Amino acid sequence: MTTTTLPAPALTRLDRCDRCGAAAQLRAILTNGGELLFCGHHARVHEAGLRAVGAALSTDP
Ligand SMILES: [Zn+2]
Repeated sequence: MTTTTLPAPALTRLDRCDRCGAAAQLRAILTNGGELLFCGHHARVHEAGLRAVGAALSTDP
């Protein structure tokens, strides 16, 4: 199991899913430096694809 740690700030209630606007629970840092936020639902929908393109995924504890 590989864990990628990045110095990204913790998600807050102000962070919103880029797909539906719900509270974000997952931050994805793309290999090109872009950042996407997803709610729990969309995190599950997109997780496999994000991992496939090498995105670093981080969630709040
Ligand atoms: Zn969503």
